[in-house]
Parts: sequence; C-alpha cells; structure tokens
Amino acid sequence: MPVTNAPVLVTGATGFVAAELVKQLLDAGYSVRGTTRNVEKAKQDGYLTGVPGAADRLELVAADLLDDGAFDALMQGCEYVMHTASPYIIDVEDPQRDLIDPAVRGTLSVLEAAKKTPSVKRVVLTSSFAAISGEARDHVWSEEHWNDVSSLDNSPYSYSKTLAEKAAWDFVEQNEVDFDLVVVNPTGVIGPSVVPHVNASHQFIVAASRGEYPGIISLAFPFVDVRDVALAHVRAMEKPEASGRYLTSAPALSFRRMVELANAEGFGEKYKFPTRSLDNAFGNAIVKFAANFQPKGTRAFLKMAIGQEYRLDTSKVQNELGLEFRNIDETFVDAMHDLEAWGHLG
Ligand code: NAP
Repeated sequence: MPVTNAPVLVTGATGFVAAELVKQLLDAGYSVRGTTRNVEKAKQDGYLTGVPGAADRLELVAADLLDDGAFDALMQGCEYVMHTASPYIIDVEDPQRDLIDPAVRGTLSVLEAAKKTPSVKRVVLTSSFAAISGEARDHVWSEEHWNDVSSLDNSPYSYSKTLAEKAAWDFVEQNEVDFDLVVVNPTGVIGPSVVPHVNASHQFIVAASRGEYPGIISLAFPFVDVRDVALAHVRAMEKPEASGRYLTSAPALSFRRMVELANAEGFGEKYKFPTRSLDNAFGNAIVKFAANFQPKGTRAFLKMAIGQEYRLDTSKVQNELGLEFRNIDETFVDAMHDLEAWGHLG
C-alpha cells in the first residue's frame, strides 16, 4: 500500500537511476512529480512518459539545480522527496562549475524548499559510495566512512558527491526542520535502463566492447543493480524507521569476470572485448603509465583503482531495509543485453 496519496517529487527524473525509480513508484501505485530541465524533450522522447502508469500518474515539471527557489512551488503538497538529480560526469572542463555547484547548490535548494513546505515528511537523497570512499584501502568500507581524499583536482565527481551529502547533513542539523533526511549511497549502478543514454557507470563496459582496452586489466569495482538501488530508495521512503546512510552494493566484479560473462553470452564474438591478460604486476605498471595520456578524471580513476580490491559492509541496508541484492553476474548480463538493445555496444 502506498504510504502517501500525494505526488512523490523525484528530481532528475530523466536520469538512469531516477527513471527506474519513477517506474517502480508508478508500479507501486504512487503518483510522481518528476523534474527535468527540459520537459518538452522528455515528453517528445517518450521513454518516461511511456512507462506503465505514467499517462495517469506522472507529471513532468521543469527545474534546474542552479536556479534558486526552483523547487519551492514544485514541492507544494508533497510528503516525500527523492533528490537524485546531480551531474554524473567523470571528465569535465570546469569541476567547480560543472560538478560542485549543481551538486551542492541543488541539494541545498531542495532542502530549503523542503524546509518551507510543511507537508514534507522525508527527503531521500541519492548520494554515492563516492562520498564514502575515494580510494581502495585495506579495510572494510561502511556508512561510518567519508571520502577524505577527493578534491577539485582529484576525482571531482567524487568530491561533488561528498560535499553535497555533507552539506545535506549539516543543513538538517543546523536548521529547524519538520522532515528527516535518509541517504542512499550506491556503488557503480548498472542494469537495464528505462532511458537510452549511456550512463557513466556503463561507459566502462561500452568502452571494453569497442576494443578500447588493450587487455584484461586489474580492475575490480563494486557494482549494484539499478533495480536494487531504486528499491532501496522506495524502502527508504516507506519505512518510518529508516535513518542515516545506506551503503547499497553487491560484491565487487572484476574486469576478468566481466569478460568471461560477456564471452559466455556470445558477446566476445560480436564485439572487441580484450583477450590479453594484463591483470598482473606488469599490466598494472603499463596501465598506470598509459593513464597519464587519458583525460584527467579517467587518469585519476585508473591510478586509484588499478590493482585494488574493495571490501564493503552492506549489512545495514540488508537488515534495516530488507534489501536482498540481485546476483551481480546476472545484473551484468542483463546490462549487456540492454546496452546491445539500445545499440550502444561495439
Ligand atoms: P544521469 O543518468 O546522468 O542522471 C542525472 C540527472 O540529473 C539527469 O537526468 C539530469 O536531468 C539531472 N541533472 C543534471 N544536472 C542538472 C542540473 N543542473 N539541474 C537539474 N537537473 C540536473 O545519472 P545517474 O547515474 O542516474 O545518477 C543519478 C544520481 O545517482 C546522481 O545523484 C548520481 O550521483 C547518483 N549515483 C549514480 C551512480 C551510478 O553509477 N550511476 C552511482 C552512485 C550514485 P535533466 O538533464 O533531465 O535535467
């Protein structure tokens, strides 16, 4: 049973994560008010408006994270707000302008609007594992950790997520507000997409299918299924006892395993997945050197992640929100078929 009859406000509704969230909310019987910077385009594209239930219960409204007060009127009457909009771009021209400003100012703009709107009971914020960890370290990551290494120069996307989430927690602590804040921190989100654009988290798979990697390199990154991430948001909204941060991730998937899965599905014959083994000390040295010739964001990512292992404690989201993660091998295969269906592979 829906916990509210009022529309659920979802910011950045056209995004990969948010579109799946909109789909699940509509499926569960909710009405949704989704924001995008370009309502006309979203309507013309028809991907979101084509989701079952959208014709009757999805309203698309315009809002930009950088426009002060943009969410004030849109939040009227809402009890729950899902703030997912935030630029997810790895290589940017101007990190302050392109990442930090929209992430932080947008989050504060949403929270200011919630503060002025007495009907709002809870804001669910889409943060990221990037706000928890900026590097692989020899320990187990959980909700108690914060990324203390990213900066404007080093992984600015991760920095934007860290600053935005910190600003959100500071806001609810320093202001008298009638709503509570719950945060979802997903790792790399993959899986079937409601919308056609290639999300940053899928770019690695697409690049691998196009032969952009000279070999199987020593990367193992924690991923999570987009359907699980959306469900974590829905549960974070529906469960009154939900609180704090929720690290949301399946176990890490290695590049080698991805290639094995791709080959087992026949993608190896159709596309240019690497075959040469570079997931060894020699390969690591080559990748670290070659990273110097990549754009800044990719360079920082490769240098940080190569040869590293991530261990995560996701017991909080499993115990408190009852989330059972899909098998990440199956998610990867679903993602591959979906990327192929959208025409992105090879
Ligand atoms: P996405 O597909 O690129 O969607 C991001 C959305 O944000 C876009 O649809 C865009 O909507 C909106 N947006 C960007 N800049 C905006 C601005 N200035 N004003 C208003 N809206 C703006 O990215 P995503 O992967 O779904 O990410 C959604 C959220 O999940 C983000 O907060 C991201 O940090 C977080 N996250 C993602 C991953 C992942 O692996 N994908 C992992 C952890 C956390 P319009 O263009 O329609 O306005």
